[in-house]
Amino acid sequence: MARRKKTSTKKLLSGIIALIIVGLAGILGTNEEFVNTVSNMGEQTNSQNVQQVEFVAQEDLLIDFIDVGQADSILIRNQDKVMLIDAGTNEAGETVVNYLQNLGITKIDYVIGTHPHEDHIGGLDDVINHFDIGQIYMPKIETTTKTFEDVLESIENKNLTVTAPNKGDKIELGQAAGEFMTEPILDEDNLNVSSLVLRVEFGNTSYLFMGDAEEENEKTILWPKTDVLKVGHHGSSTSSSESFLEQVKPQYAIIMAGKDNSYGLPTQETIDKLNNIGSEIYRTDENGTIQMTSDGNTIEIKTNK
Ligand SMILES: [Zn+2]
Repeated sequence: MARRKKTSTKKLLSGIIALIIVGLAGILGTNEEFVNTVSNMGEQTNSQNVQQVEFVAQEDLLIDFIDVGQADSILIRNQDKVMLIDAGTNEAGETVVNYLQNLGITKIDYVIGTHPHEDHIGGLDDVINHFDIGQIYMPKIETTTKTFEDVLESIENKNLTVTAPNKGDKIELGQAAGEFMTEPILDEDNLNVSSLVLRVEFGNTSYLFMGDAEEENEKTILWPKTDVLKVGHHGSSTSSSESFLEQVKPQYAIIMAGKDNSYGLPTQETIDKLNNIGSEIYRTDENGTIQMTSDGNTIEIKTNK
């Protein structure tokens, strides 16, 4: 009996101990679960931000002229390839990064910094830090600004190299074909004329991205007729000479400028010249972000204002 009693006391004791262990495990487990849940919440929030929309390869050519105020930033996509021409000001870097992330973009195959002015390469360090980067193109000219040094630092930190393209160099972007049209003019006193100028053909449609290139650049070649012109230097009258516009004769002219900017851009002179050749004008200061879609034959334009 005593033995049995002992046994049952033992059993009871081990039962209590087991309960305590289970209880402890339960508490620990709950804690662990709680910790996991909290950290998962963090992860989910982050991954939701990044993967809100999964990147979808497109048969159409998509061009987004992103509203970054008095600055340039242009996103071009076809099939699974992505190109970014300029990244806005330092202030706009986050806007550009968010815009791309919201499209599910994680890799940018081609980044073009047209020339080392803050309104074109300001946000480039943010872009380089946030995405996988393929090739970076910039003109072979340096400047001493912190903005420029930040860009170089982000490039170095990722062990990337910069290509300085020459006139005639080509880029394949899915089914679209890009070509650098001019030899950049390397003038430290006027960085605008070092602008890389890219022309893109997609099916029967064509697009010309001037950066801040000026009349000095326009004079260096004869220009093929082109459907869409990203007007040089925010519509300044130092660009878009009559002779140049007569050759390009764009159906659509895109001006990237900030509302009520202190430079007074675009100038009325440039607007008049574009009207005279019959171009339909779109402006980021009035239309906000401008989205273009082409199937290779027609071009559709959507604006958010
Ligand atoms: Zn500019």
